Amino acid sequence: TVVLGIETSCDETGVGLVRDGVLLGDALSSSMDEHVRFGGVVPEIAARAHVSALVPCVRAALDNARLTLDDVGAVAVTAGPGLATALHVGVGAAKAYAQALGVPLYAVHHLAGHAAADTLAHGELPPRSVVLIVSGGHTSLLLVRDLVRDPVVHLSDTVDDAAGEAFDKVARILGLPYPGGPAIDRAARAGDPTAVAFPRPLTGRNDPPLGFSFSGLKTAVARHVESAHAAGRELAVADVAASFQEAVADTLTRKAIRACREHDVSTLVVVGGVAANSRVRALAEQRCAEAGIELRVPPPRLCTDNGAMIAAVGDLLVRSGARSSATGLSVQPSIELTWAQLDPTAHEPVLA
Ligand code: ATP
Ligand code: MG
Ligand code: FE
Repeated sequence: TVVLGIETSCDETGVGLVRDGVLLGDALSSSMDEHVRFGGVVPEIAARAHVSALVPCVRAALDNARLTLDDVGAVAVTAGPGLATALHVGVGAAKAYAQALGVPLYAVHHLAGHAAADTLAHGELPPRSVVLIVSGGHTSLLLVRDLVRDPVVHLSDTVDDAAGEAFDKVARILGLPYPGGPAIDRAARAGDPTAVAFPRPLTGRNDPPLGFSFSGLKTAVARHVESAHAAGRELAVADVAASFQEAVADTLTRKAIRACREHDVSTLVVVGGVAANSRVRALAEQRCAEAGIELRVPPPRLCTDNGAMIAAVGDLLVRSGARSSATGLSVQPSIELTWAQLDPTAHEPVLA
């Protein structure tokens, strides 16, 4: 079965086509440039951009895969979490495609998509893995068995900002463009990661060993910048960017490896936009090698939002025999990741 995946939870319109774990083709359109002058994603602008980009993206993905709509055997769509107005565009379109083609529809959790992205690069996940999701809105350590058949277990979440949010806010403080993650990654290349000793949040003896917090780190960067200005010193942007990035990569990898040890898991999967970060990837590789843990990180273009990852979840659902979602389903703008499929009436009987 060829699964058509549709993603419109934020500012990327993503479409992907997957069959039996293989990515056949995809297309991506971003409204990022339209949000730059606002310093963040404007939901109405994002939604309008999805309306104009979605059908062309479906065509482009089909062309890319050398397929036609008649080849599509199932449709999967992100139903949450995300911006409500943006989600509605994808869900509305997915219902229309499923109805017109007479194929089943699957409502997918966006974060399950991020995790499934890795299966397109490295094949099926092992029976147990620790998944570190580091994205614009989430930072979580998860214990994953079967991504679509078993509930996901949250080992920890951030108590305040997400890692990607911290990158975006620190970039703003440093006068770097939005989105901040890629800008800091670039700026840091010319910097010294040991130049500024930024704190490693929640790594004290009495802190939750797997907990994350990034707002204090962001404040530490802001203080550093303020004191440089007050003293009339020129700000070494590259050094600050590299030092901040090092603090994030250090904390993330340390805790992720600890989670693997605590739960006796030998595979770590790092996904989400921040998994595209060059230092996070390098440090994870180094520390997993030292710890004897298998590391899986998708290529950068599958780390940030895309439609292929949603098609990948749809493909897993189809192959596990999941029941399709109700065509009356709606969006769920804020919902924790427990089940990959978002329509509970669909998975409960199947899993019973
Ligand atoms: P969520 O998935 O939590 O709903 P989102 O979909 O907006 O949020 P993603 O698309 O997964 O998030 O990731 C976007 C985030 O990743 C942004 O915060 C961006 O700054 C960050 N990011 C992207 N590339 C990099 C990079 N090279 N280094 C660090 N951060 C990055
Ligand atoms: Mg985005
Ligand atoms: Fe995302």
